[in-house]
Parts: sequence; structure tokens; C-alpha cells
Amino acid sequence: MVNQLARLTEISVTLNSTLEIKPLLQFIVQTATQVLDCEEASIMLYDEQRGELLFTASSNSTEELAQIPVPLEGSIAGTIFRENRAIFIADVEKDPRHFAQVGEQINFRPKTLLGVPMLMRDKVTGVLEGLNKRNGAFTQKDAYLLSIIASQAAVALNNARLHTEIQNAYDELSRVDKIKSDFMAIASHELRTPLGVILGYATFLKEDAQGELSSHADMVLTSALKLRSLVEEMTNMNLLRVGTVDLQKSPSIIQQIIARAYEEISSTAKAKGQTVAVDLPKQPLRVLVDPAKIERVFSNLLNNAVRFTPNGGKISIKTFVKNNEAWTQINDTGIGIPTAELKKIFQEFYQVEDHMTRRFGGMGLGLAIAKGIVDTHEGRIWAESEGVRMGSTFYVVLPVATQ
Ligand code: ADP
Repeated sequence: MVNQLARLTEISVTLNSTLEIKPLLQFIVQTATQVLDCEEASIMLYDEQRGELLFTASSNSTEELAQIPVPLEGSIAGTIFRENRAIFIADVEKDPRHFAQVGEQINFRPKTLLGVPMLMRDKVTGVLEGLNKRNGAFTQKDAYLLSIIASQAAVALNNARLHTEIQNAYDELSRVDKIKSDFMAIASHELRTPLGVILGYATFLKEDAQGELSSHADMVLTSALKLRSLVEEMTNMNLLRVGTVDLQKSPSIIQQIIARAYEEISSTAKAKGQTVAVDLPKQPLRVLVDPAKIERVFSNLLNNAVRFTPNGGKISIKTFVKNNEAWTQINDTGIGIPTAELKKIFQEFYQVEDHMTRRFGGMGLGLAIAKGIVDTHEGRIWAESEGVRMGSTFYVVLPVATQ
């Protein structure tokens, strides 16, 4: 008995560590023949769609079986399945419920049989059978051992199935993700040339035109420039995704980078009546970064702070050193971010407000680009907010330059 317990534990470990269905099925039937000391063991799994059992594995055939259907009525396995109990049979071929087709197909003549239901959380998921005990008849102890193997097998098969489903879902997700980035790459590339032509001619037109025509040309130019910055955003995102972004790192003074980013938004903030408080260290603080890329990070964050803060709101920028890293904190008194969205906003194309009802414009790429850039610098970026209408704080942590 102690030996058998050890064997059962061993079986359980193997069952739990095998995630591929085919080897798992073979292991179960081989183990059942060894433990019961019989000639053959087989598995029939219930197929929900067909409402039938399918003969799925046999210890005498390592080939993939053609999944022979076994009816629920008029078969021994069907009886075990429906009545959810072990069945002993002394002479299978004489039993009126015997379903001969399977034996014929795998060239096996059954004589004695012990079958048990495979249970998963009280639900019968299939039937495990041992056939032709080598010495004497199947016993109650055999039924007990086979039931233990059957339940463990049911759980292991379910895990393997879930694992396959997750793997398939993941593969599908990767495929869709690739389509998306290919689309972004193609679209941003193909838009660039015609956009260049529009920008060029609109510029000529603006220079030559007078009166009303000049203001029309101006509108074309402004819109084309806006379109170009959207295309650039898509291109940047794509470069970050494929990891081909070229970093020109050098010890750079963070105060200067922030000042340049601030320049970009100061007039819009002013127009909205917002105050921007800037609190930077007195001594130049050098960070080891690509300054143009990091300027982009700060300008995206500041741009958002201005856009998502109502007129008259407050924005603050604060930089300090903590644990030998340069921390920058950009805080606003704007619309805030629900807790559940704090991580998601860094995903590509993610916007808290629905695309269709948006009041704020944008493509949902600004933070994804910021995160991509910070990540390639081995820095950290995250958002904090007390919730809706409670304002937001974005943190960027960058490595301090050592020399
Ligand atoms: P977009 O340019 O479309 O705004 P971003 O990637 O810059 O894209 O931002 C993603 C989303 O994160 C925004 O649409 C908004 O819902 C939220 N968000 C970003 N910054 C702020 C902020 N300062 N306050 C409130 N919500 C913000």
C-alpha cells in the first residue's frame, strides 16, 4: 500500500507538470495499465458539442486515434458516464451494452473490464477503463486506485486544455498586434510623401496669395502641419515598438530639457489662464539621457496637463534627487484619472474617454510614446490621481549622470 501511495504521488506530480494533451493522455493510459496490472487501458472524453463520448487514447496504440464516437446509450462507457459510478464486467463480449466497434478498430479483444468516471469538480468529463487484468479479476482496490488516477487525470487534462486555449488566444493577440503595427508603419510611411507635397505647395501659396486666399492657404498649412505631427507620432511609436529607436545619450542638464518643454506649452497655458509653477534644483542636475527624446516625454506630459485641466487651473513641475535618481513630478488640478485607468493610459491608443465622444482630441499615443522612451532609458514613469476631478500627478524617474 505504501508503495502504491508513493506511485500515486509520483503520478500526480507528472500529471500536474505535463501541459501537452497528447503525452498526457499516453501517460494516463500507460500508468493505468501498470497500476492495475492489466493489458490495456483507454480514455473516452465527453464532447459537449456532439453530446457523445469520444474514444481518445488507448495504451495499445500510440498513434493518434481517429476519435471514435461512443454512444452514451448502448455502451458500457456510456453507462459509467451517465450513472457516474465504477462498473466491473467479467466478460465484456457477452455484455449486451458492449460497443464492439472500438475493439475492432484497435484490434483488441476485451474480456474483463473495470471502468470509472473521470470527475472534475463533481462533473463527469470522461471515462477511464482498464481491460483484461493479468491475474484474476479486477478488485475494489483496483477501482479505488483507478478512480484516484481518473480524477487527477481529469484535472490535468482540463489544465492542459486551458493552457492550449490561452496559448491560442495569445498567438491570436500577437497576430492582431502585428497587423496593427504593420498598419501604423505603412500608413505613416505612405502619408508622409503626399503630406510633404501639400505642405510645400501650401507654403508657396501662402507666400504668393493675398487677401482671403492667403487666409485659406494658411488654414491648409495649419491643418497639414497638425496632420504631420500625428504622422510623426505614429512613426515614433512604431520605432519604439520595434526597438529601433536610436538613443543619443549624453550627460544632459535636466533643467534645460524641462525649460524647453515648458516653452512649448507656456503660451497655451497662458491662453487658458492657467498658472504653471516650476521648482527645479538650484545646481545643474545632469541626467544620462538623449535630451531630445526626454524633452518629448516632458512636453507630452505638460501638454496633457494643459489639455486636461480647465481654464484657470494650476500646473506644477518639480524636480528633485531621491535615492541617487532624478525625480520629476508634474501635477495638475484637472479632470483626474480613475484608479482603474492609471496603468492603462500608458497603452497605445488608450484614452479614458471614449474616442467618439472625446472633447480633448489626440490619438492616445502621447503617454505610450513617453513610456517607451523612458523605458529605453531604463527609467520609470507612472501616474497617480485621487480620482475624477481630483487632478493628476505624473512621475518620471531618470538615471543621474555619474561624471
Ligand atoms: P491623447 O493624446 O489622446 O490624450 P495620451 O497618451 O497623451 O493620449 O493620454 C492618454 C489618456 O490618458 C488621455 O486621453 C486621458 O484620458 C488620460 N490622461 C493623460 N494625461 C492626463 C491628465 N493630466 N489628466 C487627466 N487625464 C489624463
